[in-house]
Parts: sequence; C-alpha cells; structure tokens
Amino acid sequence: MNESAQTIEQEMHDLLDRIMQEPATEHDIEEVQGQLGRYPRGMEAVGARCVCGRPLAVVTRPLLPGGVPFPTTCYLTNPVAVKAMSHLEANGVMAEFNQMLAEDEELRAQYERAHQYYLAFRHALAERTGDSEEHIEGISAGGMPVRVKCLHALLAQTLVMGPGINPLGDLALERARDEFDPKVCRCEQ
Ligand SMILES: [Zn+2]
Repeated sequence: MNESAQTIEQEMHDLLDRIMQEPATEHDIEEVQGQLGRYPRGMEAVGARCVCGRPLAVVTRPLLPGGVPFPTTCYLTNPVAVKAMSHLEANGVMAEFNQMLAEDEELRAQYERAHQYYLAFRHALAERTGDSEEHIEGISAGGMPVRVKCLHALLAQTLVMGPGINPLGDLALERARDEFDPKVCRCEQ
C-alpha cells in the first residue's frame, strides 16, 4: 500500500467514526422510509442532512440483512435531490461528463481517486459491522472508476464526504443548485 492509499483509508476511517457518533435513530429511519417509500434496509446512519435536519443521503452497510450485497454505501434519499439528479440525467449531463472524462487526464485521475475513497469508506464500515465485502470487492457506485452511470450515487458521495473528493459529484451539485442545495431547504415543496 502506498502512502496515498494509507491516507485515504485513514481519512475515511475518521469520517466514518464521526458519522457513527450518531447512528440512525428510529426517527431517521422513519423519515427515510417516507422519502423512499420503502423501508431502508441496512441503514446505519444519516450521512448528510438538509439545513432543516432531514436526511439527504444515508450510509448503508455492505451486506443487507438476509445477506444481500449492497455496493451503494452512500445512498441519496432526499426527494428534491433525487429529482434534481434525474433532471440532469434527462438533460444529457452524463454523456457530457463521460466526454469530459475522456478528454481530461487529470479529471480521470481525480475520479479514480474518488473510487478509492468510496471503497475505503465502505471497508471501514465493513470492519465496523463485520460485513463481508467479497461479493462487491472493487465495486463502488455511479459507474466509477471510469464511467458516469448514475449522478444520484455521485452526488451522495459528495454530500457524505464533502467537496473535493468526487469531482463529478461536486460538479453535479453545482449544476443542480437552482433545484437542490444542501444549504437551502426545499423539502416542503
Ligand atoms: Zn429541508
């Protein structure tokens, strides 16, 4: 393991520690159930909140109850955010981002690094929960490390891990500001 990978592992270990200082409460789970319209199996914590306190994205364990592998560790739940990403996808932003990846070597490197962050975060969670990662080893989310296949997953990573980790999640957030902003509550719309 090189030094950079060690740094990523440590950062994600620390981030998870901070998030797990407040594990999901019954109230959190009820709110997310309302957002998704289904029970959020394997939800460990709220990873990011709207200014109003409602969940934006949740942290889900790598192995759901019943032994179902679940790679989308950072999962977008807030309906306003979900809709904003769906609008970007419908407007061809994924194709645009894929084109950017194809043309920009530095962006590719940052995106690959975001993938490593994702895996390190999940690994820290797997250690904590005792979940096996064998069925999702090396698999992150959203099409990483080389493609863009789901903006919802990329935005969820940006919201949970903060800016500067996933360049395309950050960019998706920037593009969505008129519709969704974690600092502007539009939950009641
Ligand atoms: Zn809100």
